[in-house]
Amino acid sequence: MLNIVLFGPPGAGKGTQSEKIIAKYDLKHLSTGDLFRKHLGEGTDLGKKAQGFMDNGKLVPDEIVIGMVEETIADHMDANGFIFDGFPRTVAQAEALDTMLEKHGIGISGMISLEVPEQELINRILERGKTSGRADDQNRGKISTRIEEYENKTAPVAGFYRKQNKLNNIHGVGSIDSIFNDISAAIDNF
Ligand code: AMP
Repeated sequence: MLNIVLFGPPGAGKGTQSEKIIAKYDLKHLSTGDLFRKHLGEGTDLGKKAQGFMDNGKLVPDEIVIGMVEETIADHMDANGFIFDGFPRTVAQAEALDTMLEKHGIGISGMISLEVPEQELINRILERGKTSGRADDQNRGKISTRIEEYENKTAPVAGFYRKQNKLNNIHGVGSIDSIFNDISAAIDNF
């Protein structure tokens, strides 16, 4: 299986590039943000547990996220591979992901890390907020909290994959297609 971690701060273009990667490599998209928004929309218990954290731009606690991912992986083991988008976001999540993939006899093929300067992230998220309907995209305070959460808790995840020689840094500013070409070149080397 081709299993990719698509990594980067909020607004780096993970969702946009995921769509192109899925179309080219035929992978199962596993976006924890999308899964949480679905639970929220359906009013499930899991959605209720996640809501307060999401509304404030904070990370949802690891045990909630990990349980949800574990279930989704088990349900889609017939896929050609997974693209993990917005997960793992803490080192504990990365460790848990390795353990759950090992149970299925598979592993992460590589990480793609999209690098985008902070001011560009804020501009992109505010722009997306005009149409995404996401409350967490429309408020500067919440956007700042999300970027702080990324820097404090999520950025160290890159080091976790660097130690495994799986980290690929990609410059995430430019046209969508040129960034995708760089991503494809990296994936073709996995
Ligand atoms: P996203 O759509 O990836 O920007 O995620 C939206 C929100 O969902 C985040 O701000 C978090 O509150 C929550 N979330 C999504 N993925 C995770 C994760 N892997 N760990 C913790 N919280 C998450």
